Amino acid sequence: MTEPILVIGGGLAGCEAALKAADLGAPVTLTEMKPAHYSPAHHSPLMGELVCSNSLRSAELASAVGLLKAEMELLGSAVMRAARATAVGAGKALAVDRALFAGWLDRAVRGHPLISVESRRVDELPRLGLTVVASGPLTGEDLAQDLMRLTGCTGLHFYDAIAPIVASDSVDTERAFWADRYGEGGGDYLNCPLDREEWAAFYQALAQAEHTPLKDFESPRFFEGCLPIEVMAARGEQTLLFGPMKPVGLVDPRTGRRPHAVVQLRKEDAEGRLLNMVGFQTKLTRPAQERVFRLIPGLERAEFVRLGSIHRNTFIDAPRVLGPDLRLVASPRLFIAGQLSGVEGYVESAATGLLCGLMAGRLALGQETPPPPATTALGGLLTHLGNTASADFQPSNINWGLLPPPPLPEKPGKRKTPKAERNRALARRALDDLLAWMRSLDLAPATEPPRL
Ligand SMILES: Cc1cc2nc3c(=O)[nH]c(=O)nc-3n(C[C@H](O)[C@H](O)[C@H](O)COP(=O)(O)OP(=O)(O)OC[C@H]3O[C@@H](n4cnc5c(N)ncnc54)[C@H](O)[C@@H]3O)c2cc1C
Repeated sequence: MTEPILVIGGGLAGCEAALKAADLGAPVTLTEMKPAHYSPAHHSPLMGELVCSNSLRSAELASAVGLLKAEMELLGSAVMRAARATAVGAGKALAVDRALFAGWLDRAVRGHPLISVESRRVDELPRLGLTVVASGPLTGEDLAQDLMRLTGCTGLHFYDAIAPIVASDSVDTERAFWADRYGEGGGDYLNCPLDREEWAAFYQALAQAEHTPLKDFESPRFFEGCLPIEVMAARGEQTLLFGPMKPVGLVDPRTGRRPHAVVQLRKEDAEGRLLNMVGFQTKLTRPAQERVFRLIPGLERAEFVRLGSIHRNTFIDAPRVLGPDLRLVASPRLFIAGQLSGVEGYVESAATGLLCGLMAGRLALGQETPPPPATTALGGLLTHLGNTASADFQPSNINWGLLPPPPLPEKPGKRKTPKAERNRALARRALDDLLAWMRSLDLAPATEPPRL
């Protein structure tokens, strides 16, 4: 007998999960609290609402999010079909008419013969039945409390405090040096030293940089625990020099002296391809971050794979509470999808909804599903959710750094493979591996694989 599935939340992840599971033949009940209750960011009674921008970002395969979209299309993503059907001209990006987009998804869910929609708020998670929780970054208090009962107090976060991440091969190691404070540890930090003049220029630029205003529901009580870098700067120079930029215990091998200030970069992944700017969570605008942070010696040509941000955002501590197949370790009948799982962005939220719908739908039919290969963009998202290398887990967009290095031999003494060529090799391998994984599960591609 096919087991029924409950999906909580009719956002991007919930719609995607419900439609995928139902397409596989599982009966689904989707509960959506709108229109009786709205989060502070939702305004439309329709499901599949885009709460802010109308862009699903780059449509090009040369970008990691473009690859993720291509993989989702192969797996028959409803969000991608909705986006294609309601696209508006946006150059190399895929942007949509938001009302038509939500209308398309709302109709698809309500019109599916195996989905029934209930308009009610869920305040407690079922402990027995197969459930996909997709209540989003603004999950209400009661449901969040119940989730916390399952994950433990440290298993759920209510804000993200995201520091920028740079590609390690874009940092100038003629200026930056590997060392731990006081020589303790294995030299795990890449330190960017600033002398007095460099510090003065950086501090002035930081103090004058534009930042994004807080939304009403982004309570300032948060910031005492984890201050944005520009707020620390506004409290005076010493706050940074005694805080995240303190130089104590470090000697610059180029000068043999302690620098005036230091920015520390810490490995974000086990291989050290990505480096996190320690303590640099920020509300600066994206252009301001790129301009100001490139004043830091060693980061002049840094490739920022993720810029900093701070939001009200409910998400689980995925590496410690989620299994590799998006099920809660403490309650394996519960799948966690969307932004709540610890991914960031519309496309990534829908992508985890698609995976949860596929896995829950197949489980309802009595079939287990191994996760997609780590070499795919979908697998890269799972790699991030399982990354125990960082004690302070923070949500992430998809980026090339989440995939293992490309299958191009780097020959000693040869010039580095150009980025575009590397990315094409990554995308080619990802699509081949995804199709092989789908064949092993008897899943036919929903679209023609894109040509590279
Ligand atoms: C203010 C804000 C702006 C954002 N802007 C962008 C952006 O521009 N671009 C981008 O890529 N990402 C953005 N994001 C991040 C993220 O991609 C989106 O929030 C995305 O909508 C997440 O998808 P989701 O399906 O996980 O959650 P949502 O789309 O939020 O869907 C959750 C659904 O669950 C329902 N729900 C919640 N609790 C319950 C409950 N207890 N019972 C029943 N139903 C419930 C909600 O009403 C909602 O319909 C933004 C996030 C926020 C908070």
